[in-house]
Amino acid sequence: MTWIGPAALAIAGLLFLLGKRERPPAVPPELAQLALTSTGLPNDPPPETWPNLRRVLAALEGIRARWGRVELLSAYRSPAVNAAVGGVADSLHLEGRAVDFRLATPALTRQCFESWVSNPAQVAGAIQETILYDTARPRIHLGLCLPGACAGPRFSVHEGISDEQDNA
Ligand SMILES: [Zn+2]
Repeated sequence: MTWIGPAALAIAGLLFLLGKRERPPAVPPELAQLALTSTGLPNDPPPETWPNLRRVLAALEGIRARWGRVELLSAYRSPAVNAAVGGVADSLHLEGRAVDFRLATPALTRQCFESWVSNPAQVAGAIQETILYDTARPRIHLGLCLPGACAGPRFSVHEGISDEQDNA
């Protein structure tokens, strides 16, 4: 039965290709911290967002160096996660170039935001938009520019918003 060998090879090859197609490339471990979500929905950042997420990581490194501990709340959001948390349709989170975080204390978080308003150039990656959600536990939304295409910096303060809500 000489045809069994080639047929088995062809089937094995087909299964291999199907397996390859169905499995998206694994998210690099250093980027996993930027794919957290409390929604329980799938939230693996696709490869085209990885360069942006690496720039977010670099910005966070600078923030940690200057301001100390950073509590990450949300960075990359899949379309489903973005819809679930009430994000705007063109949210920079969808492209992996926004991050929401808190510093160790409310005072530090507010101070960090104000220092960026007076000197935006201190953020690695260039600021496109930054929002201070000024609640009892304030948090910052930082959106980075695309390299060579900056529409910012824009700063705003949102008050009277719940601790979970994020409309950017
Ligand atoms: Zn945000």
